Parts: sequence; C-alpha cells; structure tokens
Amino acid sequence: MPAQLIDGNALARQLRERVAVRAAELTARGTQPGLTVVLVGDDPASQVYVSHKVKDCQEAGFASVLERHPAGLPEAALLARIAALNADPAVHGILVQLPLPGHIDAQRVIEAISPAKDVDGFHVANAGALVVGRPGFVPCTPAGCMEMLKSIGCDPRGKTAVVIGRSNIVGKPMALLLLQASATVTVCHSATPDLARHTRDADIVVVAVGRRNVLTADMVKPGAVVIDVGMNRNDEGKLCGDVDFAGVREVAGWITPVPGGVGPMTRALLLANTLRAAERSAGLAD
Ligand code: NAP
Repeated sequence: MPAQLIDGNALARQLRERVAVRAAELTARGTQPGLTVVLVGDDPASQVYVSHKVKDCQEAGFASVLERHPAGLPEAALLARIAALNADPAVHGILVQLPLPGHIDAQRVIEAISPAKDVDGFHVANAGALVVGRPGFVPCTPAGCMEMLKSIGCDPRGKTAVVIGRSNIVGKPMALLLLQASATVTVCHSATPDLARHTRDADIVVVAVGRRNVLTADMVKPGAVVIDVGMNRNDEGKLCGDVDFAGVREVAGWITPVPGGVGPMTRALLLANTLRAAERSAGLAD
C-alpha cells in the first residue's frame, strides 16, 4: 500500500487560521502583531519569498512591512536600520531575507537582530536556547517538520531518526528537536560514506540536502515516516524535493510531497513565531 501523504497545505491552513484568531484577540487588547521583512537587492527568488511572507501576514491580521534596499546598501546602514527596528515597539519580528549581497556579513546582521525579535530563530542566542532546551525561537522549517510529525500522531520518543543535512537553519535544529523529543538521532552529511546504512534502520527520515534523489526506495525501512525538506527543479523545471517520491512512496508509511509539504509549513511557522514574539512583548507568553 502506498504511503499516506502528510498534507502541508492543509496543516498550514489550519495553523494560519489558529494564528489569525489569536492575532485578532491580541490586537483587540492593544497589540497588533508586527513583522518587518528586510530585503536587500533584487534576487528574483527572494522577491517571491518575501512577497509570500508579507501576504501571509496581512491575511492573518498582522501589521507587516516590506523594506526594500538597493543591492549596494552598506553593511553599516543595514545594521543601523536593524537597530532602529529593534527599538520600535510596533515591530515584534524582524526577518532579513537571505542571501545577502556578498559585501555584507550575514552572520553579523543576524546577530544584530534582538533575539526577542529573531522570529527566524537564526540568532546564536536562540540556537543556544534550543541546544539547552530553554524557550526561544526555533527555525521555522524544522519546527514545521515537528508539527507534521505531530499531525500524524508520530511521537519520536524511542524511535530511530536520521537527518540528512547539517545546516544551521534546517539539519542541526531538526536533529536537536528530534533529540529533545527523545528520538535516537543520527545526522548524516556530505562526508557520510554510506547513507543507506543509516537510513534503512530509521523510523523517521528527514532529508534536507538540496539534491534530487538523495533518498531512494531501497534506502527506506518499510512503514517509515519520510519528511522531504529539499527544493529542487526537475528536468522539466518543476519543483521537486530530495526524495525519489514515486519510489519511496511505495515503501514508506508516511511521506511529505513537494510541493505542498514542508514549504507551506515553514511559512505558517513564521506567523506562529511572530505571534509568539508579540504575545511575549505583551507579557502573555514565555
Ligand atoms: P545547505 O546549507 O546547502 O545544507 C545542505 C546539507 O546537505 C549540508 O549539511 C551538506 O553536507 C549536506 N549534503 C550535501 N550533499 C550531500 C550528500 N550527497 N549526502 C548527504 N548530505 C549531503 O542547505 P539547507 O539550507 O539546509 O537546505 C537544504 C534543502 O532544503 C535545499 O534544497 C533548500 O532549498 C531546502 N529548504 C527548504 C525549505 C522549505 O521551506 N521547504 C526551507 C529551507 C531549506 P555538508 O555540511 O557536509 O556540506
């Protein structure tokens, strides 16, 4: 029997609706959640991403502002802008769209964002909070993957999980979240000699590489849950993930599609993080 699909579009819609209800309540109490998205340059993919983020905010009843800056904006000017946003009480979340032009040190910019407004969860203070299990902002993509597991009743406790990819924004926080949920976690990367040796035993596999067909049917344990974070283009130019979907679907128990899987959940979690930032500023959340 083919794997059941984890429908990211439907889950994200439900989450956005819940966020909108709470945003309306918070607004009625005098705090409208506010997200400022900062875009430097005119990278076409980034323009699409930021327009989606701003639209999502507007639909959820947030105050959202898109700040566009020319590609040549000096780093010092961007840092000054972030300092001003940090000091603005109407701004609860600040998102600087990556990648930044080469003359700007992205890590320095991320570290300039107040951790309390770092709704992407990329600041070292939030990364550290995740490591030690303290409240903080968790990066949206791995947080969305955890929501997807929850939605199918998959409790990672006692399960074997493999994360392929170790980036700071997906792989590492994903592994930490699974560990926090008491899975036994293995992290694979480009220097892992035999991926299949690890994935074949896994109850949960999360693939975040950025290359097609990293995970094929012969690498998957029957009944496993497979979460595909990857975003690639196939030979026809269509969006696809890192997983050989058609093959793995015949073996896995659950699988996320691309498109319509992790992507929409990532967007929805940005709203959830921004709402939480606003609730925290109003003294209503930790
Ligand atoms: P990244 O920073 O490029 O990291 C990729 C990771 O994959 C690295 O840790 C790399 O290992 C590992 N890797 C590369 N080739 C490998 C191989 N042959 N076998 C095993 N591991 C390999 O990418 P990222 O930012 O984490 O993103 C990963 C993918 O997810 C991309 O397609 C990205 O577009 C997508 N993504 C999707 C969403 C969404 O919302 N759907 C959000 C974020 C990212 P090394 O560390 O050894 O180099």
